[in-house]
Amino acid sequence: MAKPFASSADLGEKKQVLEVLAEGVYALTAEGDPNVGAIEGEDFLVCFEALATPVAAREWLSRLREHTTKPIRYLVLSHYHAVRVLGASAFGADVIVTHEKTRELIAERGEQDWASEYARMPRLFREPASIPGLTWPTATFSDRFTIDLGGGRGDLVLQYCGRGHTEGDLVAWLPRQRILFAGDLVESQAALYTGDAFHRDWSSGTLDRVASLGAQTLVGGRGAVARGKEGVESAIGQTRDFLAVMLRETGAAGSLKEAFQRTHAALEPRYGRWPIFEHCLPFNVSRLWDELHGVERPRVWTAERDRQVWDELQS
Ligand SMILES: [Zn+2]
Repeated sequence: MAKPFASSADLGEKKQVLEVLAEGVYALTAEGDPNVGAIEGEDFLVCFEALATPVAAREWLSRLREHTTKPIRYLVLSHYHAVRVLGASAFGADVIVTHEKTRELIAERGEQDWASEYARMPRLFREPASIPGLTWPTATFSDRFTIDLGGGRGDLVLQYCGRGHTEGDLVAWLPRQRILFAGDLVESQAALYTGDAFHRDWSSGTLDRVASLGAQTLVGGRGAVARGKEGVESAIGQTRDFLAVMLRETGAAGSLKEAFQRTHAALEPRYGRWPIFEHCLPFNVSRLWDELHGVERPRVWTAERDRQVWDELQS
């Protein structure tokens, strides 16, 4: 029997859990749906990630408002993917910060990515008509962007660690609390999406730089909060292993179809039950096949190309 396309048949609500990671530091996880976070400054808030629609974002904000009423000065977006950014208007932030590459990617492929992600993950797009249009950053940076939280709270450091899940991922790092919001560069017990990735950079130097921060608590793009040195190392190690297996198996294959079969067989025993594994893998292998055959930048995913790749590999 044919597998339903991507996550189109995943319609069951996920349980959201708001966790207070330290004084004024919040994470909302949701059983493998995209995670979001917030950090209190002395008299303002920084929100991390925006969810897929303003209606979805307002639900998160209503929970956050049980803890703090401070105004939102910054909305930080880890990368350009639609399910992370299209809820931005709900935040009313003074400043929307991304990496400079993310702005370029939104201009180049934001529209197509929106259509692609909507078809792949319709459940996440709660009331899609509430999206006013593409989300544009109002501040960008190339290497590092530091926000002084004020009142002796220390800094929030937004940092570029190299190409990875996309060409322009940032991480948000609280050096004093040793808490890292890693975006989709690290997943914790959730499958990786690598359809727009740079696998070789990500699995080597980029994850090295993420690990070298020495986080004690890590909020990945999806999945549970990783706690303690061991928990953080385990989440980063799982991400690296997933990529290493992909590189090995796809690299050894003689055709795209064989690459998919080999990679699926090698990953499935360890990762097959984790959220979005079956959904992601055809897109992942397609991109990695390109990367290993000289296609430098990821090709743009469109709703049509999604279906073609799915039918070729996953049916
Ligand atoms: Zn992503």
